[in-house]
Amino acid sequence: MQICLSMQYTIFGRYQRMSNNENKVNAAPRLSIVLPCFNERESIKQASDELSALLKEMIDKSLIAENSYLFFVDDGSSDGTWSAIEDLHKNQQLFKGLKLSRNFGHQVAVLAGLTAVTKYCDAAISIDADLQQDPQAIIDFVNGYRNGADVVLGVRRDRGTDGWFKKQTALGFYHLMGMMGVKIIPNHADYRLLSKRALEALALFPEPGIFLRAICLQLGFRVSTIFFDVRERQYGQTKYSLKKMLQLALHGITSFSVVPLRLVGIVGFLLFAFSLSMGCYVAWHALFVGDTVPGWASTTLPIYFIGGVQLLCLGVVGEYVGQIYTTVKNRPRWICEDKLD
Ligand code: UDP
Ligand code: MG
Repeated sequence: MQICLSMQYTIFGRYQRMSNNENKVNAAPRLSIVLPCFNERESIKQASDELSALLKEMIDKSLIAENSYLFFVDDGSSDGTWSAIEDLHKNQQLFKGLKLSRNFGHQVAVLAGLTAVTKYCDAAISIDADLQQDPQAIIDFVNGYRNGADVVLGVRRDRGTDGWFKKQTALGFYHLMGMMGVKIIPNHADYRLLSKRALEALALFPEPGIFLRAICLQLGFRVSTIFFDVRERQYGQTKYSLKKMLQLALHGITSFSVVPLRLVGIVGFLLFAFSLSMGCYVAWHALFVGDTVPGWASTTLPIYFIGGVQLLCLGVVGEYVGQIYTTVKNRPRWICEDKLD
């Protein structure tokens, strides 16, 4: 696995090079691996076997603390996922879990898990329960953490396992987000490590429709990336329906960008300017050329004009709504990284 620790993303949107003496700052962490599960009864067995073997290997190599564990979040499953988690919990030290009252969606399930483990770990990694994301990359995540990063993002190497539609919509999504001015790392989903202080900072963002992959870049702590491969799903089907994908994309855009609101204003202004120049043109024809169709200008022009003015007003109102919307979210204006008492 390739580790890119030399380039560090900062809150100022630049990439910084870490000096050598900034390396090796973290001890072997108590690691919590958070797995969101929605109807994943069949996948859980494979995930618990594979991940517990990996944890053991990492404990033996003193990469992580002995009391590291797996944390399953049942996101309102109806296929017996929770009883599978209860079975695993016979080994209380290694397997823990949380059950949500209904299906809240992947992002909320991940967030619920991360919030629940914050007090009981030094670092947490979120990974899909179907283990499509190569679990071996967890070693790289931990190395990234031990070398001083608070946020380690997993970036998939390619989209070979995706179908044509998913591949195109994903590429379109990252492109659109870029155009809207939203900072996210292309091909990074929700396979990432967060240190304890990054988890605590995440708790300061109270917004309901949280979009984790953009929020994690706003924390301001040291970020590094690692690359991983994606495997085929072994059991069950994808739980990300087209509707859920669109909801996620919409949340991502509306919680991080007011560009769509601004576009409405721009479109309104252009229509307004167009109808004004059309009006001048028609008036010139009527007065000096005299070949206008009777009734055309008085019917068509007001439609353009009123439509333009309405959109322009809507855009202006939208700007204010955008301001209220960001204020109501009550995001922290800064996050303190260190304290000298
Ligand atoms: N998931 C969830 N709640 C949902 C949808 C999905 O907790 O409403 C979980 C799912 O069980 C899996 C992860 O999120 O562990 C990713 O979902 P999936 O593998 O279906 O997405 P895909 O890999 O097809 O994009
Ligand atoms: Mg999957």
